[in-house]
Amino acid sequence: MSMPRCGVADIINDYVGQADLILGFYRGEHGDGSAFDGPGGALAHAFPPTTGRLHFDADEIWSDSSYRVRSNQVDLVGIAMHEIGHLLGLDHSRDELAIMFPGIAKGQFKRSLSFDDRDGLFTLYADNNILQLGGRVNYYNLFLC
Ligand SMILES: [Zn+2]
Ligand SMILES: [Zn+2]
Repeated sequence: MSMPRCGVADIINDYVGQADLILGFYRGEHGDGSAFDGPGGALAHAFPPTTGRLHFDADEIWSDSSYRVRSNQVDLVGIAMHEIGHLLGLDHSRDELAIMFPGIAKGQFKRSLSFDDRDGLFTLYADNNILQLGGRVNYYNLFLC
């Protein structure tokens, strides 16, 4: 493990070569052909596995609060859930309550999976027994956070 940075061990750099998902903050053009556009507009993008990269626009005002997002902020956890949904293979949903709905307003706090989000994950993974607990599919206990 690397020397601690700000009191937190730097496990990211030690395991980045083995990680399936790699997250980071970037600004403007950052070498993947999908330049960020400054505040507003594109907030993040993800490249599904085997690439597995998730990039956040460093020019946004992000909130990592667990209970609220100010009107000028973007919800980091909600956007991360959406992008990780793409990394897991989910496409956009037409359900405005879904994490996978393509659009989130500044100040919007969305942390719960909708029926459509759960149904998509169930369709993708339940047949592979990934969500099986105790010999049966535990469909209603599927949470990302
Ligand atoms: Zn990028
Ligand atoms: Zn999306």
